[in-house]
Amino acid sequence: MTATSRAPKALTGFRTSEDFHWVGDGFPVRTLFAYDELGAELSPFLLLDHAGPTTFAPTTQRLGVGPHPHRGFETVTIVYEGEVEHRDSAGAGGTIGPGDVQWMTAASGLVHEEFHGREFAKRGGAFEMAQLWVNLPARAKMSTPRYQGITSARIPRVALAGGRAEARVIAGELDGAKGPAETVTPMHVWDVRMSAGAEHAFQLPEGFTSALVVLRGSVRANDSEPLRRDTLALFERAGTELRIVAAEDACVLLLCGEPIEEPIVGQGPFVMNTGPEIHQAIVDYQNGKMGRL
Ligand code: MN
Repeated sequence: MTATSRAPKALTGFRTSEDFHWVGDGFPVRTLFAYDELGAELSPFLLLDHAGPTTFAPTTQRLGVGPHPHRGFETVTIVYEGEVEHRDSAGAGGTIGPGDVQWMTAASGLVHEEFHGREFAKRGGAFEMAQLWVNLPARAKMSTPRYQGITSARIPRVALAGGRAEARVIAGELDGAKGPAETVTPMHVWDVRMSAGAEHAFQLPEGFTSALVVLRGSVRANDSEPLRRDTLALFERAGTELRIVAAEDACVLLLCGEPIEEPIVGQGPFVMNTGPEIHQAIVDYQNGKMGRL
């Protein structure tokens, strides 16, 4: 082991999102980061919306977003409370509940809808989810769409900090536990819960983009000031160590991925490499080439 192999990753910046908006009529979200501002720095991660936590009254209405397309990237939906129901033009679909993850590779394009689960909507109650957009390299942007419905039971849990913290390995690997999500480029996606005072030094690959998203509670990262709920913290690619101390009970996402060093050109639900590719995506969608529901 060399002297630099456990060097801390320096915090390059952080910010708390105050931006609040509705996605359709089902998802009250804060966008914690988006590629239009931080695309290169956060590559391969494009965007993260945190919906809730909030409470919905029982309803027989369908709450959510009706049919819309995507091309050129992946949407990763992590449900914390409530239920999300999905259906897409490639024939995939399903309802995911607390702890479950939907990893949808839109790639060449599909049309899907995202609603609250019917049973959940009837009951009402607490709702919280995160949706992460992951970019695809140019070579995979026009590949066949894919859907990975990942139940909570398939996601390994790694006890940390003497059992006072726990990481769910959605993608990548932590302490030998491999996440079930198959990814196109190398990345780790860890869903971490920590009790107040718990501390753990995560070891991350040198050279990978490393971001911490605080969904609940607050934490310090490599001796930062407390990072509160709905904060994104971004770290240098150099270095390997990220030491997190929970200032209070906390739920965070650790995102760590090999950067895709390619241009990012996006518009609405399409993220490609060039303007003409975006134009083509719009034409293809209008001509029904992404399918119909
Ligand atoms: Mn969508």
